[in-house]
Amino acid sequence: MVKHTDKLATNLLQYDKYYNKIKNYSRLFQDYRDLWERASSFEIETNFPIQIEFELSNACNFRCGFCPYSFPIDQRPKGFEIPIKDKIMSFDLFKKVIDEGSERGLMAIELGYNTEPLIFKRIIDCIKYAKMKNIIDIRMTTNGLKLTEDVSTLLIQSGLTHLSVSFDAFSEETFLKTRASRHYKKVLQNALNFLEIRKNLGIQLPLMRVSFIETEENKHEKDSFVKFWKDRADLIAVQSLVKYDNTPENLQNLNNEKQKDIEYNCHQPWTRLAIKSNGDIKPCCSIPGMAFSKINLSETTISKYWNSKEMKELRNTLKVGEGYKNSVCKKCIESIENKNN
Ligand code: SF4
Repeated sequence: MVKHTDKLATNLLQYDKYYNKIKNYSRLFQDYRDLWERASSFEIETNFPIQIEFELSNACNFRCGFCPYSFPIDQRPKGFEIPIKDKIMSFDLFKKVIDEGSERGLMAIELGYNTEPLIFKRIIDCIKYAKMKNIIDIRMTTNGLKLTEDVSTLLIQSGLTHLSVSFDAFSEETFLKTRASRHYKKVLQNALNFLEIRKNLGIQLPLMRVSFIETEENKHEKDSFVKFWKDRADLIAVQSLVKYDNTPENLQNLNNEKQKDIEYNCHQPWTRLAIKSNGDIKPCCSIPGMAFSKINLSETTISKYWNSKEMKELRNTLKVGEGYKNSVCKKCIESIENKNN
């Protein structure tokens, strides 16, 4: 049996530098990051998620080759089918979650779980509301296309604390392949402008992370990408491809042997959960995790869900590296390409 930790999927470069910067920002941030470290190493089980991820709109303005939203509807993995009427999260639902969280110790939110948050019209209102309710870390992941100078200024001034821009390329040619977009130069310039605006405003946060999901199409650009961003971004994430049914073969390393019964200590259900645009709750933010059974916020509260027998059992299974005993986690774990191969 092969032993792996959750570092299998994501390699965070410059993490120590980033972590120290965050910890030094304020005492509250320090306490929050310490709690995160303890929960993600299974030392403590909190009675409310530390972070909640929001799918504000079940839509995206990109069609990246590895993303199930690019697949024909009948070929998407389980959990991707949301009726049109539920594709935009209501601002009331967002507020309801933040209200419950702010009373029970929620510390962080991520805007942009699997889809593009900058197409959500009330995105700045979301950030301001979360800040008003004392959420410490307000995070966002974007494809960067709509990150204009005006939007960057609003984001920085509204209280966002962490911005992640997905690149997966270091050239126009590769960006066209990985992200199916001709706008590499625009996204690059938007991200650089964001850093410049932050500097000119004299504000330390949001910190900026850039990410690169390594596939067969872009792996030749990984080193150049890291070299370019090393002294610019605060954090660089090089991630493995997580495959699911219908992931195009040209992205996969078909020489990788499928890994069986891997011991894998996933900490996601120890630290966070995710909420889809229609109010469905999921115990993690992975794409295979969308297949977890359907429970909607109209039937429960975050607190009840988090402290349910099922969630406790899932956490214990993952703590001891036996995720392969859960059918959803088994599929997820076996679908991560080992970067060492
Ligand atoms: S499906 Fe299971 S192993 Fe995969 S991220 Fe979710 S909780 Fe972790």
